[in-house]
Amino acid sequence: MEKQNIDWENLGFGYIQTDKRYVSNYKDGTWDKGTLTSDANIVLNECAGVLQYAQTIFEGMKAYTTEDGRIVVFRPDLNASRMADSAKRLEMPVFPEERFVEAVVETVAANESFVPPYGSGATLYIRPYMFGSNPVIGVKPATEYQFRIFATPVGPYFKGGAKPLTIRVSDFDRAAPHGTGHIKAGLNYAMSLHAIVSAHEEGYDENMYLDAATRTKVEETGGANFLFVTKDNKVVTPKSDSILPSITRRSLLYVAKEYLGLEVEEREVYLDEVKDFAECGLCGTAAVISPVGKIVDHGKEICLPSGMEKMGPTTQKLYETLTGIQMGRIEAPEGWIKVIK
Ligand SMILES: *Cc1c(COP(=O)(O)O)cnc(C)c1O
Repeated sequence: MEKQNIDWENLGFGYIQTDKRYVSNYKDGTWDKGTLTSDANIVLNECAGVLQYAQTIFEGMKAYTTEDGRIVVFRPDLNASRMADSAKRLEMPVFPEERFVEAVVETVAANESFVPPYGSGATLYIRPYMFGSNPVIGVKPATEYQFRIFATPVGPYFKGGAKPLTIRVSDFDRAAPHGTGHIKAGLNYAMSLHAIVSAHEEGYDENMYLDAATRTKVEETGGANFLFVTKDNKVVTPKSDSILPSITRRSLLYVAKEYLGLEVEEREVYLDEVKDFAECGLCGTAAVISPVGKIVDHGKEICLPSGMEKMGPTTQKLYETLTGIQMGRIEAPEGWIKVIK
């Protein structure tokens, strides 16, 4: 298939409209059979549940062209089950998990000409989402929903290699105990916008959120989980019920243990101990791992020994192994790679 005439190497991380998107509607207690459409716009009633009470959830994943020219998606079954968890927490119907994976496959296949070529650094970002679509004025869940998936080609998150980030300890909270921090809901992002805009204004790349109850423990950033490496090369990631369970982070922990033979720990991480770590990274689908060089806690600087020039050595190995698995250069664990074609 002929590829789109796109300058793949210089793509940014923005929305580019592709040919087809998947749509399925939920009404009278059932999902319709779903279809691909060319129409990128959605017409909604002014009182739709999503517009009034933010009843919306989403997922994010990527399709890659592998070294041998196949098009693959990384662990879409985990996105399907996480979206089911998100739906239940917001009183939305679950889009069946097998149908979710099939719909991802259909959407990617229908936009094959937009899947960036191997070696370009670009990928096809896939965005499944679901929202309450019928009018709701009294506070209650909608009774009708739309599930959609669109895809958009995106460039490498870091052009010219990953430069370590400078982040600040935020005075805002991302998620309350027993709240919605563990699900992928639009509402978690709406309330993080002020914090990220003010972080950028003050010269920081990201916010480090602490646990809202005690403000002593590390949670995550607005859209990525933390991964630390200790001076004796153990991989540590914060454990908390209000962290979004990143698929990238879970995959990196597996890679650390099973491919690199490292010890891994998922446990509470206190802000006080961050100064003792050797490396720090942020994990998520968009960048896989973004190295952190400096963490600023109200004027007090914590400079990671890995420095401000490049990723720490263990972070680098984790990054190379996971991206190698995704791009087909390294053999993947059973079930991690869904081949589209
Ligand atoms: C999506 C998301 C992540 C990253 O999850 P991945 O599955 O690795 O992409 C981390 N934190 C938050 C708050 C998120 O919404």
